[in-house]
Amino acid sequence: MSDIETVCVQGGWHPGDGDPRQIPVYQSTTWRYATSERMGRLFDLEEPGYFYTRLQNPTNDFVAARIAELEGGTAAMLTSSGMAAVFFSVFNLCGAGDHLISSSAIYGGSFNLFAHTMARMGIEVTFVPPTASDGELAAAFKPNTKCVFGETIANPALSILDLERFARISHEHGVPLIVDNTFPTPVMCRPFEWGADIVVHSTTKYMDGHASATGGAIVDSGKFDWMAHADKFPGLCAPDESYHGIVYAERFGKEGAFITKATSQLMRDFGSIQAPQNAYYLNIGLESLALRMRQHCANAQAVAEFLAADQRVAWVRYPGLPGDAYHELARKYLPDGSAGVISFGVAGGRAAAEAFMARLKMAQIETHVADSRTCVLHPASSTHRQMTDDELEAAGIGADMVRFSCGIEAARDIIADIDQALG
Ligand SMILES: *Cc1c(COP(=O)(O)O)cnc(C)c1O
Repeated sequence: MSDIETVCVQGGWHPGDGDPRQIPVYQSTTWRYATSERMGRLFDLEEPGYFYTRLQNPTNDFVAARIAELEGGTAAMLTSSGMAAVFFSVFNLCGAGDHLISSSAIYGGSFNLFAHTMARMGIEVTFVPPTASDGELAAAFKPNTKCVFGETIANPALSILDLERFARISHEHGVPLIVDNTFPTPVMCRPFEWGADIVVHSTTKYMDGHASATGGAIVDSGKFDWMAHADKFPGLCAPDESYHGIVYAERFGKEGAFITKATSQLMRDFGSIQAPQNAYYLNIGLESLALRMRQHCANAQAVAEFLAADQRVAWVRYPGLPGDAYHELARKYLPDGSAGVISFGVAGGRAAAEAFMARLKMAQIETHVADSRTCVLHPASSTHRQMTDDELEAAGIGADMVRFSCGIEAARDIIADIDQALG
């Protein structure tokens, strides 16, 4: 494969003679066919083609192909949001009566989805800390466990998942590892290289990068052998009665079964497609992803070093700081930098943190993160306010914690803003 900088601009869309250079936006809900027989073959998945944008749209597929190439996967799809991608990735494998294991250090929305909404669907979750030993992780498996889920770099805890170890133990139990790779993006880490089977993204974050378009993506490594565990995954390995008895793992193989099923079943029934216009914006973001990620990481390293040396700051967490609890894992999985997000505590606790936020001038208070403009958040009073103190602690979030997302401005200006706001 080409280097990542090249794939960012060349991947996914390969125009033919006389075709537009930039990805065309197929702003159409539907496609016309000359005969009903032809359309019938599309419905039976006997030949590829488009018929209705609730399921698939070519613009989305060009962009998804670029993301698949960036991650080193075999197939990908775009969703309307990161949450839709997280939900589909898990629900594509689990049904009522099934169980999944998740790292406890995950995005607040994913935590709610697993702990509350999916519980109402009869799907049970066991949370394990990202630091769980081999024994602790192995003990969480049940006969009905269908997958393990974690975040490469947890938002906002900034813990790092030991990808190779989690993948090995998942595979020992015959299930895939699903990794949310939103924060590092494939520029900084490619989880498939460490054994992960499925990757999901909130493309709303660095991939779009400009706070323009909400979106998500699911990528399949094409490596998990569903048929070798056919009893565990009847949805992929037994006939789908809602789709004319098709067996996805037989018809589409390891490379295509997961995404084909998620498209033809879950997109059909839940309809969380990304608007093609948003896919177009996302694609423009992808073109500068490698450049932007380097600047985000360099800025975050400089800001983290400034904070670590300042008496007005109680603690700093950034995987790039020597002495950080996850520094060794960062050196292994994220040798060129992790992401632009830092968390720290302002000396003086919750009240001091809120006063600091109110004094910031350039950095803006937003629920958003991973954007080209510096933004900042107090998770305990916003994104994570529905969690109990015990749940907050398990997720690695203190009441004094500030999540600081370094943009691509000059590091000097970001540091000057923090300096004046610390008072
Ligand atoms: C934001 C985020 C999500 C959810 O994505 P949306 O696009 O907001 O739905 C999921 N995982 C992580 C790590 C995130 O940061």
